[in-house]
Amino acid sequence: MIIKENIVFYAKLLDKKGLVNPLEGNISVYDRDNNKLYITPSGTRKSLLTEKDIAVLQNGKQIEGGLKHSSEYLLHEAALKARPDCNAVVHTHAPYLTAFAYCNKDIKLRCSSTFALLFEDIPCLPYGQPGTKDIANGIEEAIKEHDLILLGNHGCLTIAPTLEKAIAILEAGEEVMKIYTLANSIGIIKDISDDEWEKMCNEHPGSKRNRYKNIF
Ligand SMILES: [Zn+2]
Repeated sequence: MIIKENIVFYAKLLDKKGLVNPLEGNISVYDRDNNKLYITPSGTRKSLLTEKDIAVLQNGKQIEGGLKHSSEYLLHEAALKARPDCNAVVHTHAPYLTAFAYCNKDIKLRCSSTFALLFEDIPCLPYGQPGTKDIANGIEEAIKEHDLILLGNHGCLTIAPTLEKAIAILEAGEEVMKIYTLANSIGIIKDISDDEWEKMCNEHPGSKRNRYKNIF
């Protein structure tokens, strides 16, 4: 089963890279044709996961998997509903991104070409209680034009057509924020000029503006 195999592979990768801990972080893939949501179980060390541990939900009910599904499935469902172009969601407490979520801060860097092309900005949703539908408050609007968002006082979430892409977005976002934090300790960060910023965002074929043109 390729979906379960993929989830196990990437869950282990996130664990190896220090982007999840045993009690937090979850991955889902939505099989839209069969209305099945595959999601990692709650409270399990990701490096120990096997395919039989992956929970499968249909209409909110678990129909497969030896362990209980993650309690954050409502968050995943809300994101996937708002983005019919996407089938994979990754929610983690990646440290550098989550530090901004603790400050309830939208991220608007102007110093990084990676940030310009991938994100332009990363919005932070207000706090919502984990494990309840409140955690998804505001997600519908924010996720429509953002592949990476912060969850206030909690963590972050990425969405993409494939799990590989969702993981890559998380890795890129976390790395940019790590470098930004390091740069802050070295000296005064120099921003890209407004003219150059606009030029890059408008003209680069891989920019967010050009990618989204093709989606909506
Ligand atoms: Zn969480």
